[in-house]
Amino acid sequence: MDLLVVGSGFFGLTIAERAAAAGKKVVVIDRRSHIGGNAYSQAEPETGIEVHTYGAHLFHTSNETVWEYVNRFTSFTGYVHKVYSNFKGEVYPLPINLGTINQFFRASHGPDAARALIAEQAEEFDTKEAKNLEEKGISLIGRPLYEAFIRDYTSKQWQTPTTELPAEIISRLPVRYTYDNRYFSDKYEGLPVDGYTAWIEKMADHPNIEVRLNTDFFDESQPLNKKDVVGKVPVVYTGPVDRYFDYAEGELGWRTLDFEQEVLPTGDFQGTSVMNYAGADVPYTRIHEFRHFHPERDYPTDKTVIMREFSRFATREDEPYYPVNTPEDRERLLKYRALTDGETGVYFGGRLGTYQYLDMHMAIGSALSMYNNKLEGTL
Ligand code: FAD
Ligand code: UDP
Repeated sequence: MDLLVVGSGFFGLTIAERAAAAGKKVVVIDRRSHIGGNAYSQAEPETGIEVHTYGAHLFHTSNETVWEYVNRFTSFTGYVHKVYSNFKGEVYPLPINLGTINQFFRASHGPDAARALIAEQAEEFDTKEAKNLEEKGISLIGRPLYEAFIRDYTSKQWQTPTTELPAEIISRLPVRYTYDNRYFSDKYEGLPVDGYTAWIEKMADHPNIEVRLNTDFFDESQPLNKKDVVGKVPVVYTGPVDRYFDYAEGELGWRTLDFEQEVLPTGDFQGTSVMNYAGADVPYTRIHEFRHFHPERDYPTDKTVIMREFSRFATREDEPYYPVNTPEDRERLLKYRALTDGETGVYFGGRLGTYQYLDMHMAIGSALSMYNNKLEGTL
C-alpha cells in the first residue's frame, strides 16, 4: 500500500483516483457501510425515486478544471436549481430577486426603483464593515426582507443567534435586481445522469483502489488504525479534525440534520424540488421532493417521496454536517491547525478535516490541488 485514504467522500475519492491512475496502490477506508460520504444516494424501494440520503445535493461549478475532471465519470442533466420560500403561508421565489421584492412590497418596481428602495432600507449597516450575519443580511437587503426570509430561517438552521454567526454564510445567497431566480450563478450546473452513486462508484473503480467499508480509523481492533499506520504509510484524513486529536483543544461546533422521509400517494406534492419554510413557527427548515430533481426520468405518476429537514447541534455520536464557525470555533481551529502542521505524513482534507463549508466542487478542487502540490512528488 502506497497511501491510506480515510473517508470515501468526494475529497478522499478524488485523491484515491488520482494516485491510483499514477500507478500507486491505495486503500480507502470508511466507517460507513457505503462509499461517497454525504453525496451518497439510493433509489427509494417503493417508488424507485433517487433519494439523496444525507440531504439534497446539487452540483454546480465555474471551475473549468473541476468540470473537466467530473465529466470523466458522469455526464450531467440540464437541471437548474430553483428554491421557493413559504413565509406566513405565502410562497416567494428565492434567492431574493425583483420578483420577491415586488411580491413582498406589493409593488411593480423596475430594477432602479427596487435598488433605491433596498438601499434606503439597508442604510443601517455597511456591507464591507458587517461584523456578523445579521449586519451583513440587513446591509444587503434591508431589515424587512432580512427579518422575513433570513433571520428566523437562519436561527432555525444554525441554532445560533444571527449576531454570532459569520457574515460569510450568506455570501452564498445573491440578491438580484432581475427576475432571474436560478439559485446558483455558476457557469456549469446539473445532476449526474445515472445518479450520485453511479458517479462515485466509477471514481473508485480502479484495480489499484481497494475500499474497506465499516472500518473506523480509530478502531484499534482493525489493522488500518491510526496508532498502527501513522508514520509508516502516508495518510489522507478526511474525518473531523477535532476527533483526530481526541478533542485535545476542545470540541469544534458542528450542526447535524435529522430527516423525516415519507412516500405520499400523489404524483406531485409541492410542484418543485425544494420549499423553504421561513418562519420560526414551522419546526423544519425545508421540504425536499426528489422527483423534481429528475423530470427526465420515468418515475411513477401516483407516488412521490418527500423529506422534511430538521437542524440541530451535533453531539459526538451524530454525523457532523456543517461547521458552525463561531468566534470560539475559529480560535480552536487555529490550535488544531498548529497540531495538523506537526503531524508528519498525514494530510488533512475535505469538509470535516479542514472544518470548512465546502461544496462538492470545492472539495474536488482542493483534493486535485493537494494531489498535485503535495502528494504527486512524494508518494
Ligand atoms: P464527506 O462527504 O463528509 O466524507 C467524509 C467521509 O469520511 C464520510 O464518508 C465519513 O464516514 C468518513 N469518515 C469520517 N471519520 C472516519 C473515520 N474515523 N474512519 C473512517 N471513515 C471516516 N455540496 C454541493 O456542492 N451542493 C449541495 O447541494 C450540497 N448539499 C449538501 C447538503 C448537506 C446536508 C451536506 C452535509 C453537504 C452538502 N454538500 C453540498 C457538500 C458535500 O456533501 C461535500 O462538499 C462533499 O461531500 C465533501 O466531501 P468530503 O469528502 O469532504 O466529506
Ligand atoms: N438562507 C436563509 N433563508 C433561506 C435560504 C438560505 O436565511 O430561505 C441563509 C441561511 O443562513 C443559510 C444560508 O443562507 O445557512 C445558505 O443557504 P443554502 O441554501 O446555500 O444552504 P445549504 O443548502 O448549504 O444548507
